[in-house]
Amino acid sequence: MKSIVFLGGARKIGNSSIGINIGNDLILLDYGASPSNRTPPELPARIDPLRVLGVVITHAHIDHSGAVPWLFRTAHRPPTIATPLTLELSDLLIRDMIKLSGKYLPFGVAELQLMMSSSIPLKYYSPIKLHDNCTITLYNAGHIPGSASVVVEIDGKKIWYTSDINLTDAWLTTAADIVSDADIVIMEATYSYKDHPDRRTQEKLLVETAKKITKEYGGTCLIPAFSVGRSQEVLITLMAYNFPGPVILDGMSQIATNIMLAHPEFISNWHALKRASERAKWMRSKKERKKYVKKPSAIVAPAGMLLGGWSRWYLEKIFNNEKNAILFVSYQVPGTLGYKVLNKRVISYDGKEIPVNAHVDYFDLSSHAGKTQLKQVLSKLESPEKVFLVHGEEPYMLKFAEEIREEMGLNIIVPRVGETYLL
Ligand SMILES: [Zn+2]
Repeated sequence: MKSIVFLGGARKIGNSSIGINIGNDLILLDYGASPSNRTPPELPARIDPLRVLGVVITHAHIDHSGAVPWLFRTAHRPPTIATPLTLELSDLLIRDMIKLSGKYLPFGVAELQLMMSSSIPLKYYSPIKLHDNCTITLYNAGHIPGSASVVVEIDGKKIWYTSDINLTDAWLTTAADIVSDADIVIMEATYSYKDHPDRRTQEKLLVETAKKITKEYGGTCLIPAFSVGRSQEVLITLMAYNFPGPVILDGMSQIATNIMLAHPEFISNWHALKRASERAKWMRSKKERKKYVKKPSAIVAPAGMLLGGWSRWYLEKIFNNEKNAILFVSYQVPGTLGYKVLNKRVISYDGKEIPVNAHVDYFDLSSHAGKTQLKQVLSKLESPEKVFLVHGEEPYMLKFAEEIREEMGLNIIVPRVGETYLL
């Protein structure tokens, strides 16, 4: 008997995982974790690791990759399949999660090392056989460098898991492939409720604001950004629109940039990334940081939601002065410090809330498809049997599913964690 089981990341964003049961064997598509700095990271539903025939990591983000080492607690070593860039970036991000939340996790660096030693780097469009009559193929997902969507072909039936996809060209990535002849589609629906504003306009506005803050007011701009993807996009954006002042690159973004530079085949504007990274000043010591934080400069540093890392250190140095700015380039999850700074203009310090005097702004450089683009994906499907929506907020997904049912007549399902559907 063959079936799909939703193990995590259904009707929510976080700890994504989908299982494909083939008899007693199980193929996993992602096995993510939802880290938090206060509570234990949430993991997908537990499965028997001995059943796992192979696990695919679609991209390095922790909510897709973070719990994979948990599968390596026994002597069984299932292959971990991902693009070579995703494998290296996953190693970096999972290692960091273990450092921050290791005491809460049922695995550690030893299991991560076993995961890496059992990995199979796979390029796009190169099918690999995992079982009799079952192949896995990776396609470009356009989300972050190295990211993939997956096609699992079983007995001639095609299951396409989009994972996180973007249909807009960015500096590092190109628009996702659409597998229009898929029979069963599992599609992300992060932004099933809205479209993103024009990307180029947002990029220009970001650089114009940074120019104004540094040139007219002599202030410092902090741009909190995820280490993988967004930091490098911002570096190139600042260069492309001629930001004149120093650009500072700090923290784990430096390591992620080096990993990406070592994989030119996965970076669409590799030369631009190379130039932008050479132009940036890489912080190496506290002394340098103290010097540059007082200069009119643009500082790109993780964490993107100010939950830790160097962006937090810079924030405390600059938030009080109105000539400075904090420029967000990604969605801020409620409950994070980034959300507070952006929406309430306060920071918490020693249990007290202190107002932020620096200018605060937000620019939408999303790496997810917007609502119209998600509809475009669905409209290109030739004759899908079923479409499952995952990776979104429940009320929005239910509304979107209703809309699609009415407009396109598709058999669309919003599954819950734990539900199984026969193939
Ligand atoms: Zn992602």
